Amino acid sequence: MRIYLPRKMGFCFGVKKAIAKVEDELKRGNDKIYCLGDLIHNPKVMEDLKRKGLKVIQDINQVKEGTVFTRAHGVDYKIVEEGKKKGLKIVETTCPYVLKVQKIARALAKKSYQIIMVGSVDHPEVKAVISNTPTDKLYVVKDPEQVMNIPLGEKVGVIAQTTESLDNFENIVKNLIEYGFEIRIFNTLCEVVRERQKETLNLAKKVEAMLVVGGHNSSNTGQLVRLCRSIGVRTYFVEGEEDINYKEIEKMEKIGITGGTSTPEKMIRNIKEVILKKLNKNPEGRGG
Ligand code: SF4
Repeated sequence: MRIYLPRKMGFCFGVKKAIAKVEDELKRGNDKIYCLGDLIHNPKVMEDLKRKGLKVIQDINQVKEGTVFTRAHGVDYKIVEEGKKKGLKIVETTCPYVLKVQKIARALAKKSYQIIMVGSVDHPEVKAVISNTPTDKLYVVKDPEQVMNIPLGEKVGVIAQTTESLDNFENIVKNLIEYGFEIRIFNTLCEVVRERQKETLNLAKKVEAMLVVGGHNSSNTGQLVRLCRSIGVRTYFVEGEEDINYKEIEKMEKIGITGGTSTPEKMIRNIKEVILKKLNKNPEGRGG
């Protein structure tokens, strides 16, 4: 069996930065360190941080003192203000790409544009954009057909959740162009995610099966799974080595392993080693 890895894998810079900030604080020995929701969407990484002392809260009112980290996906600024008023030390870890989406949305709202955001309405990044944009004309769409149900105004601005797929963004934009009058399009897709999608697709084209490693709650990891499946490659979405179906993959000669931007590189390399060990083969695959 040959196991192939992509050239680039592991945490993106946004996730790296957020984790580094939390770990620095944990090293100081402070025992009141909290995160408002999961810092990143990877249960295994979160478990590790919790073991080191991080406590995850869902509501700022759960704590009276200490340091509270916001998540890399962004946070409602009202919650930050509330925390500061309570005397908490609030450390924001919002990724710069996510902040850029929020900034564009606010600028569009200021100029009275109706805003169409391509993404998932229940994703924390999208929720943060909604709560930080002073408008009642922000619509979140996931499918191109949904556009037909929105009464479009004269001026429309289009933005996207950073981890949305380029294909879906383009399809929705195409539909809007058909129905809209003045449309401003902002490609706010994260470059790191796009690069990861491109590499994953190239890898998936030369193997019999793909293992995509990451949290089931991770949007960009889910996109990689859908992308591999879209070209008909057998694809397994695994959070860790315990999810691997050895019986199925042992028959294969070539498999690829990739991961989302919240999956540590060492987790992917470890899965490769575990598979080869289990199947009693020597590592042969190259490329990562
Ligand atoms: S995936 Fe992109 S937008 Fe999301 S945290 Fe990483 S760098 Fe930032």
